[in-house]
Amino acid sequence: MTNYDTLDYDVLVIGAGGAGLRAAIESSAHGVSVGLICKSLLGKAHTVMAEGGVAAALSNVDERDNWKVHFTDTMRGGQYLNNWRMAELHAKEAPERVRELERWGALFDRTKDGKILQRNFGGHKYPRLAHVGDRTGLEMIRTLQDHGIHLGMQVHMEFTIITLLKDGDRVVGAFGYDRERGRFKVFRAKAVVLATGGVGRAYKISSNSWEYTGDGHALAYQAGADLIDMEFLQFHPTGMVWPPSVQGILVTEGVRGEGGILLNKEGHRFMFDDIPDLYRNQTADNEEEGWRYTQGDRQARRPPELLTRDHVARCIVREIKAGRGSPHGGVFLDISWIKEKIPNAADLIRKKLPSMYHQFIKLADIDITKEPMEVGPTTHYMMGGIKVDADTQMSTVPGLFAAGECAAGLHGANRLGGNSLSDLIVFGKRAGEHAAIFAKQNGYGTIDDEAIQSAVNQSVAAFERTEGDNPFQVQFDLQEMMQDLVGIVRTEEEMLQAQAALGRLRDRAARVRVIGNREYNSGWHTALDLQNLLTVSEAITLAALHRKESRGAHFRDDYPNKEAAYGAFNLVIRKESDGQMDIQQQAIQQIRPDLQQIIEEMK
Ligand SMILES: Cc1cc2nc3c(=O)[nH]c(=O)nc-3n(C[C@H](O)[C@H](O)[C@H](O)COP(=O)(O)OP(=O)(O)OC[C@H]3O[C@@H](n4cnc5c(N)ncnc54)[C@H](O)[C@@H]3O)c2cc1C
Repeated sequence: MTNYDTLDYDVLVIGAGGAGLRAAIESSAHGVSVGLICKSLLGKAHTVMAEGGVAAALSNVDERDNWKVHFTDTMRGGQYLNNWRMAELHAKEAPERVRELERWGALFDRTKDGKILQRNFGGHKYPRLAHVGDRTGLEMIRTLQDHGIHLGMQVHMEFTIITLLKDGDRVVGAFGYDRERGRFKVFRAKAVVLATGGVGRAYKISSNSWEYTGDGHALAYQAGADLIDMEFLQFHPTGMVWPPSVQGILVTEGVRGEGGILLNKEGHRFMFDDIPDLYRNQTADNEEEGWRYTQGDRQARRPPELLTRDHVARCIVREIKAGRGSPHGGVFLDISWIKEKIPNAADLIRKKLPSMYHQFIKLADIDITKEPMEVGPTTHYMMGGIKVDADTQMSTVPGLFAAGECAAGLHGANRLGGNSLSDLIVFGKRAGEHAAIFAKQNGYGTIDDEAIQSAVNQSVAAFERTEGDNPFQVQFDLQEMMQDLVGIVRTEEEMLQAQAALGRLRDRAARVRVIGNREYNSGWHTALDLQNLLTVSEAITLAALHRKESRGAHFRDDYPNKEAAYGAFNLVIRKESDGQMDIQQQAIQQIRPDLQQIIEEMK
């Protein structure tokens, strides 16, 4: 038997971004012992990268906003595949969760009368995003971290969980290794919360950092939990396209919220050419009206640059494919033009978008107060993930909870900007609360030594091979393949090729070779991450093949229209007893009449 330490916690939270921290805070507040695990240093999760803001109907800037408008915007943005109960809870609870952050010390930007300032963002009818310049995630994580560590939770940094442990049907712990020394550990837990974030590293061009390898999605799937909506992967319309070393880094939607416009190489503002029927009533029909909206004119409608991300990304791809793109294969995003309208434009841009100013000066030698940026779509956010109960956040496996980007349901076919940070704090809190309740009602389960030994054997197998592929090369090939064949525009033919390629990559991943020992060995880490990346890539491809329509973030060139019949179900993926990946349609539960009435009234 391999040596390993065993630690016991009532609630084990895997992931220390906004969702994990908020869950850990809530469980601790319920008086149970909490272990919190993260792959990198505490405070370095994806959440820290969030720029534009957190969506909550505080109605500080426009009193016409309220939870019903936020609910309706979220449902419309998700093309009605959303879990409506989650959308309701989210819209109702987000304002209190944001005020709570403020009570815990978060310093948001202010309105003139001292309230939390809110900005415009795509798909939100009124200015709704509470923000701190374009560094909102940093403020959020700093606040949660400072508050959380005083509640007594134990943090395990630079630690990767590689398998969940079960006793019968129930999850009773997790097993993993510390990245620095490669030592194994078993965590026994009465309840486990997954809060591991996204999957962006399955693609070549991504705004996501190295940590987002779909671990939580894969851990839950391997433990028997249902995944839903895996075909819906968000490509953010504006990532950097030049220079190549920074391709994919995000350019916040806040740039467009502050008046930035999209132009093709002919200087044409192409977003006015294609306004979807669903949004026609809410979209400006001339440039002057769009500008007035960004400056707070309450009678004006939003400019088409602030349509939902799926639509804006596709319009950009169309311009590039038609040969009207920028020199490096994107389009132009211009905020500098506002100097025609406001005298102190350069100062204002630097004040409102400090990170963007800094990012372009340092990485691309471009002063965004003087010239346009070149931008193009980048893999950004996973709408699909672990199916959870709306109220408790428990997955379909007892004892296993999920929150944040690795959970699914709230966003349906497309997430609105700002709705992730609010998702983290609303459902992180709920997950933490219900995991604590579950832990109080259930004891520790029994952990099978054989399951642990088998996990150890599998995880070190790559060291024992004398020949085999380099794990980095397999990961690179996977990313290229997913980018080319299961990207922003999809076809059956290409996705069938992707499935065949995934089979070959699986074989190669099973034969990768790692040199050296287990102490901080990034080749070994990559070899282990690869298994998760392959699982989520298979799930994305399978679901995308099954959805023979175009809706939200999922666009099929061979089925370019939205089909009413496909609006009636989610696609559910689960692991069958023979180890195969199965996919089923699951009917969406009939919406509550009062919520349906709200949607009708807001049309
Ligand atoms: C550049 C950028 C800007 C964004 N801007 C906004 C914005 O303005 N507004 C908005 O709403 N959203 C924004 N988003 C999206 C939002 O930031 C993320 O969706 C959100 O932060 C995800 O939070 P999370 O808590 O679910 O996971 P994360 O913050 O991604 O944290 C995941 C945690 O899980 C850990 N982990 C993962 N796998 C394992 C494992 N196997 N073992 C142990 N630990 C593990 C990681 O180490 C990390 O601690 C942005 C995203 C990016 C990339």
